[in-house]
Amino acid sequence: MELPLRAMLPGLVGLPVAYELAILFLLGLFLGSFFSVVTTRLPEGGSIVYPGSRCPACGAPIRWYDNIPLLSFVLLGGRCRSCRRPIPLFYPLIELTTALTLGLTWYFAWRMGWGLIQALVVVLIAALLLLIAVIDQRTMLIPDHLSFPLVLVALLFGLSPLNPLFPPTVHWQNLLWGLGAGAVIFVISALGAMGQGDALLALAMGFLLGPHILVAMFLALMGGGLVALGLFLYLRMSRRPTRGAKMAFGPWLCLATWVALFFAPPLEEWYLTSFLG
Ligand SMILES: [Zn+2]
Repeated sequence: MELPLRAMLPGLVGLPVAYELAILFLLGLFLGSFFSVVTTRLPEGGSIVYPGSRCPACGAPIRWYDNIPLLSFVLLGGRCRSCRRPIPLFYPLIELTTALTLGLTWYFAWRMGWGLIQALVVVLIAALLLLIAVIDQRTMLIPDHLSFPLVLVALLFGLSPLNPLFPPTVHWQNLLWGLGAGAVIFVISALGAMGQGDALLALAMGFLLGPHILVAMFLALMGGGLVALGLFLYLRMSRRPTRGAKMAFGPWLCLATWVALFFAPPLEEWYLTSFLG
């Protein structure tokens, strides 16, 4: 009976934490539904508000009751009401991923004992990271509309005494970590191995994470590197050309930043005691 009791502990706004997580999950479902529109329209430069949602196959407008996140997809059996063609799995997937991201971010902030302001800012950062990751994955580009706000939030929050990763003082050294990491990735991007959007991401990562950016970069290189190697071997074995094959690195930077926000200090401690202790 330990779990139900813990679920009723007060969360970050004073409600039982299980209720707060359910609210965040629901908000995430609707935000994810909005994200599916943003990720398909923003890279094309179209308006994200108008016109309303349409079936990508037949163009029929989607009624509000067929546009309820996740639920409508299940009730419609994954098919458009007008043309009965399958709705791309991308839509329910991004809704679910956004909901889980918001819920887990809130949960970890609560578990870490952070305050309400920290939790809200980190939820905002997590949402931006997710949106950037999905767009970079689909288009190999990171829109400035998203990276500039992320850099700004990371600068204001990362250097401020509110940054929960550091003692409550102003963290001027994070400015240097951001500028340093941004400069390194910018040079790498000029060599063609990464995009310039990745340099802006690195800038934000340094502002936010300070020295913990080393953990994030390590995680991103491991994750991205392993997948790139797997992809390379797969192309080789299926006798397809490996030249010109591309992989977005931004999603790995985004995921690693999110992980490092919560787990950089324990990971560093584990590393130091296991290998250098
Ligand atoms: Zn249709």
